[in-house]
Amino acid sequence: MHSGSIRGRFANDAENRLVPVRGNATAVIQSSNPKTWSFDRMKAMDTPASPYRSGFVAVMGKPNVGKSTLVNALLGQKIAAVSPKPQTTRRRQLGILTLDNAQLIFVDTPGVHQPRYKLGESMVKSATEALSDCDVVLMVVDVSQPPDEADRRLAALVNEIRSRTRVLLLLNMIDKTNPSSLADRTQAFQELIPRAQPIAISATRRDGLDYLLKTLIEGLPVSPPLYPEAQVTDHYEREIASDLIREAALNNLYDEVPHGIAVRIDQYLERGEHGAYIEATLFVERESHKAIVIGQGGSMLKQIGSDARKQIEEMSNRKVYLDLKVKVRKNWRDDAKSLKWFGYE
Ligand code: GDP
Ligand code: MG
Repeated sequence: MHSGSIRGRFANDAENRLVPVRGNATAVIQSSNPKTWSFDRMKAMDTPASPYRSGFVAVMGKPNVGKSTLVNALLGQKIAAVSPKPQTTRRRQLGILTLDNAQLIFVDTPGVHQPRYKLGESMVKSATEALSDCDVVLMVVDVSQPPDEADRRLAALVNEIRSRTRVLLLLNMIDKTNPSSLADRTQAFQELIPRAQPIAISATRRDGLDYLLKTLIEGLPVSPPLYPEAQVTDHYEREIASDLIREAALNNLYDEVPHGIAVRIDQYLERGEHGAYIEATLFVERESHKAIVIGQGGSMLKQIGSDARKQIEEMSNRKVYLDLKVKVRKNWRDDAKSLKWFGYE
């Protein structure tokens, strides 16, 4: 059952999750959702047990280099919002991967960009904090393009973190990189972060992910799991749901209501067999934006709600009722109180 490009320790199972394969021990990489934890705990190991390792993995990289795609591929489920548009992921997000021998907590840092609004500053701050708090840094780059100013700025940030933090340079998108330019590109990126260990991957094709995971685990401290498996879900799902709603809004609105949109989850109720009931408010900066988000006879809001609902259902593997409202909250980007309230600080 091995997929075409992944050899050795991993194969894809029926639901397209990565399944480590080692001797006769099998464990599906679990997501944070207990309803999809259909993993077979290890039966017998054919190698001596290695010490359990756990730690934080910061995922760095400018927008659109494939950070979310990578985290999703490693976790085997839609966790971080993936979008062809940059800056969808605005907050630190935890993706937790619990294996037989290790627990990896992924921190999906926002892209670092020039602070213009206060929001920008708090995003930069949160990226810097994520870096100094973690055990391993993954610097993701798009190796199909030469390094640019944004890569250099991030590399400078990475070069400042303490020297015992391991840094892996992930040369992503090898599937769309001209093989003849790969060596030069690799060198150009390596020069930006000389201490980093380069690993070529394709997040979409899952190439190189088995080796990446092995290398990642080796870089974590010996420690029992930091998070009890079942505790993770709640807090975490709310956060992801709000990202997915925001993503659905951005995808439908194109550039009409640029990034001045925020989402607050007002209710997130479990209804057992009947799924989850979610009430959320979309905040916009102007009355005119509110009209656009609602659309003719509510059609736009309905579309956003329907797209977001499908994504949340896919993420949480159950039925979801989603009720969206739109409100105007002027200047929320510059208002420190609002930032706190939306969870940005
Ligand atoms: P992020 O902004 O860094 O989180 O980037 P995303 O994960 O949202 O990815 C941006 C775009 O690049 C999406 O359209 C992905 O499907 C695409 N992408 C990510 N990884 C790869 C890859 O390895 N190969 C190719 N061809 N496309 C990729
Ligand atoms: Mg992302």
